[in-house]
Amino acid sequence: MRLLIVEDEPDLLRALARALREDGYAIDTAEDGEEARYKALTHDYDAIVLDWMLPVLGGMDVLKALRPHKTTPVLMLTARNSVAHRIEGFDQGADDYLGKPFDIGELRARLRALIRRSKGGSHDRIEIGDVIIDTGAKAVSLSGSAVTLTAREYQLVEYLALRRGKVVSRTELYEHLFDENEDSLSNLLDVRVSLVRRKLGAAFIETRRGQGYLLP
Ligand code: CA
Repeated sequence: MRLLIVEDEPDLLRALARALREDGYAIDTAEDGEEARYKALTHDYDAIVLDWMLPVLGGMDVLKALRPHKTTPVLMLTARNSVAHRIEGFDQGADDYLGKPFDIGELRARLRALIRRSKGGSHDRIEIGDVIIDTGAKAVSLSGSAVTLTAREYQLVEYLALRRGKVVSRTELYEHLFDENEDSLSNLLDVRVSLVRRKLGAAFIETRRGQGYLLP
């Protein structure tokens, strides 16, 4: 999953990006509203964390610019903890809201819930042959034994598992699993696929030459 974090306080932006990268998300960042608007309209993010008070263009204006074009889940951050602002945010298409200061654990949990809802999934358990993926616990087992995946290996498995039976193109995987600083012309994806195959079996991920990958 790839997220955009929009926050103009550098320390908070760094802390959020670091925490969410630890969860395995690919993270893009923006420090003002104009950069946020451009990135949010250019990429298909799985969710956006959007600060309310931003230079150049406010968070609410970013949301208004986005909504006619994209349904990307948006969680708004703001120090303005008033009911009127929350209502305005929801009316303009925000999906969730967190008042500053907030607990990073709560932000993580709200993002998980937002992303789960937007993918239409309430299922926490996906079974593919001998592999069981628990999307709630972000845990994977093979023939009943827990398999240790890195957060980013897990993200690849979950992304493909949620689209089981469909060929997912390399372009889509780069769009959702890698951030703006990672080069789609490199072999990062191939490396990650081969690490997952080493742990879950060579046949777990099928390669369709010239098309992409799928979980059968
Ligand atoms: Ca701000």
